[in-house]
Amino acid sequence: MSVNAPTLLWFRLDLRLDDNPAMQAAIARGKPIIPVFIYDEDKDWPLGGATRWWLHHALADLQEQLSCHGLKLVLQSGDSAEVISDLVEKHEIGAVFWNRCYEPRTIARDSAIKQQLKSQTIEVESFNTSLLFEPWEIKNKTGNPFRVFTPFWKHCLAKSFPKTINCDLGATKVPRAWPDSEILDDWKLLPRISWDAEFYKFWKPTRKAGLNRLRQFVKDAVHDYGNGRDRPDWDGTSCLSPYLHFGQIGPREIYEALLGKVDLTKGGPRQYLSEIGWREFSYHILYHFPSVPTEPLRPEFEHFPWEPDDQLLKAWQKGQTGYPLVDAGMRQLYAIGWMHNRVRMNAGSILVKHLLQPWQDGARWFWDTLVDADLASNTQGWQWTAGCGADGAPYFRVFNPVLQGQRFDTEGDYVRRWVPELAKLPSQYIHQPWEAPDSVLAAADVKLCKTYPLPVVEHQQGRRRALDAYEKLKFFH
Ligand code: FAD
Repeated sequence: MSVNAPTLLWFRLDLRLDDNPAMQAAIARGKPIIPVFIYDEDKDWPLGGATRWWLHHALADLQEQLSCHGLKLVLQSGDSAEVISDLVEKHEIGAVFWNRCYEPRTIARDSAIKQQLKSQTIEVESFNTSLLFEPWEIKNKTGNPFRVFTPFWKHCLAKSFPKTINCDLGATKVPRAWPDSEILDDWKLLPRISWDAEFYKFWKPTRKAGLNRLRQFVKDAVHDYGNGRDRPDWDGTSCLSPYLHFGQIGPREIYEALLGKVDLTKGGPRQYLSEIGWREFSYHILYHFPSVPTEPLRPEFEHFPWEPDDQLLKAWQKGQTGYPLVDAGMRQLYAIGWMHNRVRMNAGSILVKHLLQPWQDGARWFWDTLVDADLASNTQGWQWTAGCGADGAPYFRVFNPVLQGQRFDTEGDYVRRWVPELAKLPSQYIHQPWEAPDSVLAAADVKLCKTYPLPVVEHQQGRRRALDAYEKLKFFH
């Protein structure tokens, strides 16, 4: 092996140069760096349309960042093990570094790659950049993983939080010859039919934009996050989830952005940090219970009497359930690839409770449509909603979408924004148009069953059906 054997720096869900321990290790090794991204589609969880869109832009942004340091991002598609083995052989690679991911398939694949490289006496190391604490570091008193959030997070808060990693980017070395690279546009990650016009209005999928958003959120909104986290009609949450998913921003950076500027022990900042905690918790659950993306954590839910129905699922996906808050959320999701957490909970609840559709069907739709689609958080969100996961909302607690709308979208602005056919209804009726007198509906140009549907199932009836189904489950306890 040549004394200048380059380091292969394998980018995955860590699309940033700062606070990147694999990057810092590559710099510290002192040899030329070859950054690579491998498009290796997961057969079980292929990227959805929205995450493909985000990935395209995030990679273009990373290419630009690397070019400031004379580096290129080598793009290759195919089986990761084969691509790495080929690069190692052709370019006399001396070391391969990457930051860890925690999806079950990735863990198995990466372990095999590590073993293979070790057997070839290639230096290989992986690092943590996407979590505050590794899943194997956090255990309860009996040495088992936590299954309830509050004690989990209390345990984390008692530990010292990791600091961001400084990367000496001025010291990167450039290889003499670059491997061939595929062309980003040829991957066709962007949609063929342009359904993404609203995405461009709402998002700027670059690291710089994510950092600006973080700064602005800490300055303007984190203090009132206790309210903002419940108000889909406000700009009260950080909207950092896709940046976090793709590693354009890391949780350590978020912690440092808050530290010293706000009091993390109370109010909005404390609550905000605990949402970062929920993200950690979701990853820890996925790591310790790798079957959760498709199977309920509570095994008795395997016997739940779901009633799969394509028509109902479609009505929900299209935002045509007749419940304005839910329909607004589903349309927001389709338009911009994101939905406020309060509405995600309501939309999920309608599907699994009122409509008795399997939570896995909801999770698949979110997977395809969210820009922040994340196996850990999406699974946790859906299992929480269905009451079958770690620390889930009890199944018998059924959200009332009308009351939720009246409480958290008080004037109906959120519904007006995303369900324009109801925009002229007065606030009093906006969350329950079927209660409006004919004259009010006529004045607002609403024709029930024509311009906007009646509820797919009446609330009390849906609630009763959900509770009856849950009763049946008790035989399996
Ligand atoms: P903020 O309120 O600003 O929170 C800051 C960060 O904390 C978020 O960016 C996110 O990384 C994390 N976070 C917040 N709430 C949660 C939570 N409940 N669970 C885990 N992490 C959380 N989040 C995803 O990132 N990807 C998903 O695929 C996803 N699917 C979900 C599905 C359902 C059914 C539900 C109920 C929730 C889901 N969530 C998911 C969690 C949550 O809705 C989003 O993280 C949040 O709405 C993102 O908006 P934000 O960045 O403004 O969040």
